[in-house]
Amino acid sequence: MFNNRTKIKALLSTEPTGQEVIVMGWVRTFRNNQFIALNDGSSINNLQIVVELGLLDEATLKRITTGAALKVTGTLVPSLGKGQKAEVKASAIEILGDSDSEKYPLQPKKHSLEFLREIAHLRFRTSTFSAVFRIRHSLAFAIHQFFNEKGFVYLHTPIITSSDAEGAGEMFQVSTLPLENLPRTENGNIDFSQDFFGKSTNLTVSGQLEGELAATALGDIYTFGPTFRAENSNTTRHLAEFWMIEPEMAFYDIQDNMDLAEAFIQYLIRYVMDHNAEDLAFLDNRLKEEEKALPQAQRSEQGLLEKLQFVLDNRFERITYTEAIEVLLASPAYKKKKFKYEVKWGIDLQSEHERYLVEKHYKRPVIVTNYPKDIKAFYMRQNDDGKTVAAMDILAPGIGEIVGGSQREERLDKLQTRMQEMNVPVKEMEWYLDTRRFGSVPHAGFGLGFERMVLFVTGMSNIRDVIPFARTPKNCEF
Ligand code: ATP
Ligand code: MN
Repeated sequence: MFNNRTKIKALLSTEPTGQEVIVMGWVRTFRNNQFIALNDGSSINNLQIVVELGLLDEATLKRITTGAALKVTGTLVPSLGKGQKAEVKASAIEILGDSDSEKYPLQPKKHSLEFLREIAHLRFRTSTFSAVFRIRHSLAFAIHQFFNEKGFVYLHTPIITSSDAEGAGEMFQVSTLPLENLPRTENGNIDFSQDFFGKSTNLTVSGQLEGELAATALGDIYTFGPTFRAENSNTTRHLAEFWMIEPEMAFYDIQDNMDLAEAFIQYLIRYVMDHNAEDLAFLDNRLKEEEKALPQAQRSEQGLLEKLQFVLDNRFERITYTEAIEVLLASPAYKKKKFKYEVKWGIDLQSEHERYLVEKHYKRPVIVTNYPKDIKAFYMRQNDDGKTVAAMDILAPGIGEIVGGSQREERLDKLQTRMQEMNVPVKEMEWYLDTRRFGSVPHAGFGLGFERMVLFVTGMSNIRDVIPFARTPKNCEF
């Protein structure tokens, strides 16, 4: 019964010749008891349905309210009104689902993103969120296509693990032990030998270490899956559950790694510009309208489409961490004491520093390499200077860090020494060290935060608005 419907996206690009069509969707607006704007989620654009006088009785007309679901049968004809090429002249309308306009929270007017976050179960029905989630889908598809074209293997790394990839803590524990009556060992510690896996386990914070095991046999792999961090950072760029793409490549050095990451990001942007032009145009306009309320100085220098085109047309800036510190120290912002956090060699760059470099100084994405070894993970390849490692972070305008990666330490002795220095449990990670014992090769990889990429491409400003159901501290609805 339902399979003979045509999606609105397809209809809007069809030549209207009076052909019979069936469409189904939800009412956005109903004007003058005559014009229905119908949306079925396939396009940002609504289809205009014309209801001729006398087609429906008074009672049915009253049920055509914002949010109601309809089945419309009619003919596709050229539109007389401006703004659309075709419209449907209805010959029959069936109400599939009523929507009480007194109670329906979404009215045909502009709602704030904050309000919509509170009714996240309904926000898919707005133009903004439908555009965001169609683009999110396109990006996911493009990611698989990019790597597939390059011969990478999609690797599913575990979600429950017993290893802490970064040695950084901030993990969600996974356990079936009774919280109200935890089994204890003789010395009073929790007895994880009685737990489901017979040891302490957690949700993964990164699939990288497992990714390296596969890359050093399959060559090029990537992961694309959920990642969990119990970091208590309530920012517009952090989620407790987010999706990450982690390619890992054998026979790659840090230069190859940067080239791949840059090509990857540009490919994704190009894909969305080619496949989601209408959604992007809508979001571009949304951003311009939003910024009209801001004082000139706070508005973006570029519109969304301009920004994306700019990133396609220009190489990313490549600088070392040491150069980044020099730029910051010489900046007017530093001299006028505008930075909240200290600037000196050895600091972890704060978001204000990253944004200064990207938005004020270089005005384009920047790849920062060769960070101090003390602020980076144990597996990063040590440089000859004894102070820095072959790390590379990509910083994007409006976002800050979007990619974190490195060439990995492939020399067994150097890796073991570094693990001991950083108190990484070497004994539990013999499996990891085996990649360096047997046929070790130079290799590299990076992690791209999927939601940060969606933020960048959609021009949205809060990461909670680019994932369907956000998990953040003190918030886990649905
Ligand atoms: P940040 O400094 O922004 O917290 P990080 O250094 O912890 O990032 P990595 O461990 O390198 O990040 O993770 C790789 C990528 O995953 C980051 O570049 C970012 O795009 C993304 N990412 C990291 N943490 C989060 C998070 N809590 N929510 C969403 N994306 C994240
Ligand atoms: Mn972090």
